[in-house]
Parts: sequence; C-alpha cells; structure tokens
Amino acid sequence: MRNIVALGTVALLFLAGPTTSFPPQASAGSGQPPYRYRLRTVVLDAGHGGKDRGCAGVKAREADVALKIILALGRQIEENMPEVKVVYTRKTDVFVELADRAGIANKNNADLFISVHCNASSPAANGTEVWTMGPHKTDANLSVAKRENAVILQEDNYQERYNGFDPTSPQSHILFSLYQSAHIVNSIRFAQKVDRQFRTTVNRPSRGVKQAGFLVLWKSTMPSVLIESGFLTNRQEELYLNDKANQSYMASGIYRAFRDYKNELEANSGE
Ligand SMILES: [Zn+2]
Repeated sequence: MRNIVALGTVALLFLAGPTTSFPPQASAGSGQPPYRYRLRTVVLDAGHGGKDRGCAGVKAREADVALKIILALGRQIEENMPEVKVVYTRKTDVFVELADRAGIANKNNADLFISVHCNASSPAANGTEVWTMGPHKTDANLSVAKRENAVILQEDNYQERYNGFDPTSPQSHILFSLYQSAHIVNSIRFAQKVDRQFRTTVNRPSRGVKQAGFLVLWKSTMPSVLIESGFLTNRQEELYLNDKANQSYMASGIYRAFRDYKNELEANSGE
C-alpha cells in the first residue's frame, strides 16, 4: 500500500507540473539558432513472446502475429527511411519483461515507441484499437489494459519491479495511467494517424483511439502507443490477421502514419 500511495504522489506531481510542449519551440529573439527536430530513432515492440503466448484464436497466437506485423513494419521503415534507426525489443520468439521493453526505448533515446498486440473478447467483437496512456473511461477499456498488464504475473519479483502495482486492481491502473502525461499530445497525434490509416487505406473496422494504463508504456520517456491489431477470438479476424499479405497491409498502414507523423513534427520544428 505504501508504494501505491507514493506512486499517487508522484502521479499528482506529474499533473501539477508545467505542461511540456514537444518538440520544444525556439524562443524568438533569443539569439540561439532555432531548434530543429529530427525523428531519428523508433522502437518497435512485438507484444508477448517466449513463455508468454498472449491471447489466442483457433490457430493463431498473439505473440506470433504481433511479431510478424512488427517485422514487416520495421522492414518498411528501414527500406524507405535509411536515416531512421529502428530498434526492436525482440526479433524472435523470446520472453521480454514489460519494464525491459521501455528500458530498451529509453536507453536508445527513442523518439517514438510502437507496441503491437492482438485483442481477445467475445466471438462477435472485432476491429482495431490504438491506445495511449491515460485514465480509462470505461470498464471495457480497463479490461484490455488488465489483460495486457497481467503478463507481469509471469515475471520474477514483479511487485518490486513495478512499485507494488497489482494487475488485478482498478486503483493501480488509475494511478499508473497518469504517467506519460508529458508526451500525451504527440502520443495521441500518432495514434490518430494510425487509426485513420486503418480505417481509410487498410479498410479495417476501427474501435477508435482510446486511453488506459498500460504497463509497457509506463516508463517510456517518449510518445508511445499500443496497437491492438484485431481480435483473435473473432474467427474472421483471426483468419485475416494470420495471413502474411494482411500483416503487411497492417504494417504499411502503421508505416504511413509514422511517415506523416515524422514529416509533421519535423516541419513544425522550423528551419
Ligand atoms: Zn498483448
């Protein structure tokens, strides 16, 4: 409990602190050359892996589908944007702890963190969701974060590593959701572009851009999104997501959102 209270204090400090604009704007007449932002490094995070298979359909497993979409996305960025460094939290079927995924992003001074997952619910549920860190508005949103955060139960010493976070407790999720507030504007900016691409060019049913407290986004110190690429518990969507061409379409939608986001931030940062 003590840890949760301490965490709440930190979260409130985050809220009370000055709003951060990113990229920072050069102040007029300062005599300094204007700051010119360049998006140099992106971290691509395939959810789950190794002993953690994630959710499942009849045949497809979340860990495999997420990895295939992430690898296709990485290839597209590497081929079209040689100036961007692509860092993967995993490129094979291995288990990576949630805190280490953010740690990889921070260590590489990444400009953007993209995590890809698959969803699970009743057989009728379908569609994409793009998530950023923020307080959940509905119990349904909380349940998605709870399912993704429950992975830490498979990690050693998770209570120490995650400041007493309890993946089954709504209170824990509310407190954690307040992190990342410095990057919320650009996280949502990118999330909206991904959602738009899914709807208009990839032609996927969309459930929209949403907020909840995802542990994998918690400690990353850059704009971060988590993409639920569809429901493996829906038979049609499982067949769609388990297809190589469709994985590539999904990746190209995320790629175009990434390209537009990069261009927009760089153009806005001045010459
Ligand atoms: Zn997942």
